[in-house]
Amino acid sequence: MKTPEPESALSEPLEAGLYIVATPIGNLGDITVRAVDILRRCEVIACEDTRVTGKLLKHCGVSTRMQRYDDHASDKQRAMLLDMARSRPVALVSDAGTPLVSDPGYRLVREAREAGISVTSIPGACAAIAGLTLAGLPNDRFLFAGFLPVKEKARCDVLNELGGVDATLIFYETGPRLERSLRAIAELWPEREVAVARELTKLHEECRTGRAQELAEWYAEHSPKGEIVLLVGPPSDAPPTGDPEALLREALSEMSASKAAGKVAKATGMDRQTLYARAVELKSQ
Ligand code: SAM
Repeated sequence: MKTPEPESALSEPLEAGLYIVATPIGNLGDITVRAVDILRRCEVIACEDTRVTGKLLKHCGVSTRMQRYDDHASDKQRAMLLDMARSRPVALVSDAGTPLVSDPGYRLVREAREAGISVTSIPGACAAIAGLTLAGLPNDRFLFAGFLPVKEKARCDVLNELGGVDATLIFYETGPRLERSLRAIAELWPEREVAVARELTKLHEECRTGRAQELAEWYAEHSPKGEIVLLVGPPSDAPPTGDPEALLREALSEMSASKAAGKVAKATGMDRQTLYARAVELKSQ
């Protein structure tokens, strides 16, 4: 385990390499002492938007040169940054939070490692983790799934794919799409606990919990503003949804044994194969 650098080490020259620096997700007070020190001493700061990062640097009294970078940057631009990182310290930040978490940096880090360039992570704020710590949902296992797709079919496919994962699911979400996502979750997993963590670390921070249906109704009335993390508790934590046999019979009146087994597995968290075997029996009676 690395120990924190003593004060005296902060003014020593920074070693060459790529520094992945987390920045605040709202409250500027969340920048770490180490992050400010690295940003101050590096040669250049690669960032998504120089206006956004410029405000943070001004707040911290850092005057290091900035250079725009995202994963769509040209190979030439990336090669230039990597070339610089061989002999000088180069920092990467995103607009907010931890770079590479639904933010650029993956290609840069990958190519830096391949080129034998030193890569150092300076950890700090991350909305997914802040949301998890607020939601009060089981946190022994969690799965970060980024943004849900915008198109309905793709969104349903992703939710279906994640349905059997016995972990708290964490999504990034936007205000205009929140209600639709909650309604899709309500349809698939009516009993699972859901949390909407909004405007974390900011003035209007809130974390609202309940079933997806209740939350969809709430946000239909109270248009959600700002940035959002959406969390869904694991299937094993949801209360029983009634008699699986009755649910299976009901589903079989409308669909095939395979689809009925899938639907009841999602609603109850029960094993799909077992349900399928029982559905086939029921169908043949
Ligand atoms: N790299 C960032 C991180 O470490 O959290 C995430 C960047 S991603 C492009 C932006 C999304 O993160 C937002 O749309 C929102 O879902 C989430 N987010 C960022 N800041 C947030 C905040 N203060 N409160 C709630 N969600 C936030």
